[in-house]
Amino acid sequence: MRHLILILGDQLTTGISALADADPAQDRIVMAEVHNEASYTNHHRKKLVLLFSAMRHFAAALEDVGWTVDYQRYHPDNPNQSLEAVLDRTIRENAPERVVVTECGEWRLHEQMMGWADRLSCPVDIREDTRFLASKSEFAAWAKDRKQLRMEFFYREMRRKTGLLMTDDGQPEGGQWNFDADNRRKWKGAPPAPGPFRVTPDAMTRDVIESVNEFFPDHFGTTDDFHFAVTHQDAQGALEHFLDFALPCFGDYQDAMSDDEDWLFHSVLSPYINCGLLDPLAVCQAAVDRYHDGMAPLNAVEGFVRQIIGWREFVRGIYWLHMPAYAEENRLGNTRALPWFYWTGDTDMHCMHRAIDATRRNGYAHHIQRLMVTGNFALLAGVTPAEICDWYLAVYADAYDWVELPNTLGMVMHADGGYLGSKPYAASGKYIQRMSDYCKHCRYDVKQSFGENACPFNALYWHFVDRHRDQFGSNHRMGMIYRNWDRQPTERRDAIIARGEYLLSQLETL
Ligand SMILES: Cc1cc2nc3c(=O)[nH]c(=O)nc-3n(C[C@H](O)[C@H](O)[C@H](O)COP(=O)(O)OP(=O)(O)OC[C@H]3O[C@@H](n4cnc5c(N)ncnc54)[C@H](O)[C@@H]3O)c2cc1C
Ligand code: SF4
Repeated sequence: MRHLILILGDQLTTGISALADADPAQDRIVMAEVHNEASYTNHHRKKLVLLFSAMRHFAAALEDVGWTVDYQRYHPDNPNQSLEAVLDRTIRENAPERVVVTECGEWRLHEQMMGWADRLSCPVDIREDTRFLASKSEFAAWAKDRKQLRMEFFYREMRRKTGLLMTDDGQPEGGQWNFDADNRRKWKGAPPAPGPFRVTPDAMTRDVIESVNEFFPDHFGTTDDFHFAVTHQDAQGALEHFLDFALPCFGDYQDAMSDDEDWLFHSVLSPYINCGLLDPLAVCQAAVDRYHDGMAPLNAVEGFVRQIIGWREFVRGIYWLHMPAYAEENRLGNTRALPWFYWTGDTDMHCMHRAIDATRRNGYAHHIQRLMVTGNFALLAGVTPAEICDWYLAVYADAYDWVELPNTLGMVMHADGGYLGSKPYAASGKYIQRMSDYCKHCRYDVKQSFGENACPFNALYWHFVDRHRDQFGSNHRMGMIYRNWDRQPTERRDAIIARGEYLLSQLETL
């Protein structure tokens, strides 16, 4: 046998570089559901179902076109419970000339992979993941010698590189690179939100649901109402659904939150893009086509494209530039444990309850819930970055270390000194009230900053600002905030700080 080609659970596409020169007559594919990958974190059960089912469907599709696939289904009693052990067995059975694999997405497995050739006594060809626009070395070259790494400038490079939303004379479509200022509307129930694309589970998916419930009973979340796509065809259906029904309003309501709507006008495509069921560039091109066809406005399409060729590529670049030390960063010196209600949703803070409950049910919460509710609270409360990062890695169907870690440790916790934002995304309850209707249903009063019923976000916000004066006092983007704080009467400031101290000592009870 020539090549033994390993395809990982988030590489489910025939476009993957490991298959570039593959030949079914000489090569064999290996795929495996192993305990080590399924349990390095407390993965949401919907994520396990999505990945196991999508892997099985992909393996079946490969076999249909003539491939031999050595596929290991999950069982706790399988003798080989790591990818290395599976490879060891298949190498002994097939004696390939070499193993071929596309680079993985996270440091943990990357380190293991680097030792495979020696330990397995077989050459291992690790290829670049060409699904990303910027390779690791390209990003490193862009970052080199820059004093500050700013997503916005990297994004412009990616616009030029892809030609997406660029005019023939090399200018950004509409004369601006970024239409974010237009994308901050509150949603008041109209226009109606379309809801996500839903697929009824087939027999293969139902089988997976049963085994995930049997073998992972302690994992977070529920498999109830599983409706994710698990094939390329259905993921394409999810893309079309987004383009037809949500994209036109994506920009306007990008930052909105609602008590009645889990998904609003978000695409819910990250689970598919991240595991290979959709190609990120093709997704962006499809959105841009809608703009050119007059079916979606520029602020929506530019906002959407920026998330994928800007933020998604940028966070991956930061991850590989700074790992493994990045995961240890804690520049604000946080020490508090993650409150238990992150796992149960059992809190009187209605915004937190709603975001965590949606997460538990869906394996999904949209960006603003992640950033400005659950993330914001962890930032204000001074939670240890490693603990909140573990939570985000566990609870979302789209979670992978390379994208979760910079978003949480960098964007949310500002623990890396500011690669993902020149100031922390800290906000009081006022922001949540402005962008949602949560506060109307809350036992706390968003207008109060101290007193028993005062919204916890308010005092915690000012406590955060006050206790981090050394870090942020000279940040020009925070100047106005410090001036506002310093202008308040001493008694009021003392009362807010006292309330903040009390809240920090009672986090579990809020
Ligand atoms: C604390 C925190 C943790 C996060 N963890 C993850 C994660 O583990 N996996 C993940 O894919 N995204 C993560 N994100 C980014 C973002 O919240 C999700 O990509 C988005 O909510 C997915 O839902 P959607 O597909 O409906 O996105 P949409 O709002 O429709 O956006 C379109 C696409 O843009 C991309 N995107 C948007 N924002 C980001 C971003 N900040 N970083 C990377 N890609 C982005 C995604 O591919 C997404 O599908 C995290 C954000 C925060 C604040
Ligand atoms: S009052 Fe405060 S805790 Fe309650 S929903 Fe509003 S922001 Fe959240």
